[in-house]
Amino acid sequence: MNIRNIIVAFVALLCSESMLMAQSADTTQLSAGADSCLVAQTDSLARTVIDSALLKRHTPVAPVRTLGEVAAIDTLPTTHEELQIVLFNDNTWRYVRTKPSKREESIFSEYWNTGVTHVYYGIGVENLPEAVAIELVDSLGSCHYPYKGNMSSKYGPRGGRGHQGVDLPLKTGDPIYSCFDGKVRYSAYSSSGYGNLVIIRHNNGLETYYAHLSERDVEAGDWVVAGQQIGKGGSTGRSSGPHLHFEVRYKGQSFDPERIFDFKTGELRRSELLLKRRHYSIYSKFEQDFTEEEEAEKQEAKEKAAAAAKAPTTAQYHTIVKGDMLGALAIKYKTTVKRICELNNISENTVLKLGRKIRVR
Ligand SMILES: [Zn+2]
Repeated sequence: MNIRNIIVAFVALLCSESMLMAQSADTTQLSAGADSCLVAQTDSLARTVIDSALLKRHTPVAPVRTLGEVAAIDTLPTTHEELQIVLFNDNTWRYVRTKPSKREESIFSEYWNTGVTHVYYGIGVENLPEAVAIELVDSLGSCHYPYKGNMSSKYGPRGGRGHQGVDLPLKTGDPIYSCFDGKVRYSAYSSSGYGNLVIIRHNNGLETYYAHLSERDVEAGDWVVAGQQIGKGGSTGRSSGPHLHFEVRYKGQSFDPERIFDFKTGELRRSELLLKRRHYSIYSKFEQDFTEEEEAEKQEAKEKAAAAAKAPTTAQYHTIVKGDMLGALAIKYKTTVKRICELNNISENTVLKLGRKIRVR
């Protein structure tokens, strides 16, 4: 039995139990997305397929869980060419992505410049969509706070320029982590005030900025995973004391990082972010959303109540027969699909059972 067969048997053995474990413990899944750290299959077990130094620095957390020191010992292919199974020395295994998906490739080629901090020249707020849904955690990805602690300064207007990120006081030398998987777009000393700055572009299209670092542990072009240490906190550049200045930008436009993280607990606030155009304003803070959304909901409820009051009191019903479709019913009863759905508390995709009586007016 050669070494490869032993591993395959080992994985088969693990899979029965670990499948459950891996699914429930998705917090510890790696999503390396990393051409640079995964190399082609070989028959040698001795070969360390993932840069073990990278993994040792890496403590993936989603959102706050430490994997500890593990090293990969081998990879196995799966039926999916973009997925591999990585075996670790602590008898665990995980799926990792072997390369960015097609959709992501353009993210890492368009407006890509490792020499300057801001690259999205010519893209103004007015060029961005009214709203864009951003996946913060995909099915394989993990996420990690950049630094956990109380903020000393929030996103918002400050002096004449506006504060485009949040400040998190720390001790010089504290580890700073990449929030999501991605590729280092910039790692240098920036004379514009950021000091030692690392900018990471993520698979989800966001860029995160980590400023005033005392040490940078990654170089432009490196693929990183969520939770990987990318540097150490410090006070370089325009800084009055050791802290992390952390920014999140979409196509160059900053928005309140608190929309993503609760920095005090280190938790991700949501797995998907609906980023609206108005969020790029320096005056737009995440706390306001709750008030705005509440107001919007109240308004909607009011309008519904008003509509219901106006609606005719004589309700009309229809019994579903074979072939009935909401669109056709809406035309027949001179109403809309939306209205029928509202009246019956169903969605457009609800399967209508034969014999069901639904209200049409
Ligand atoms: Zn700051």
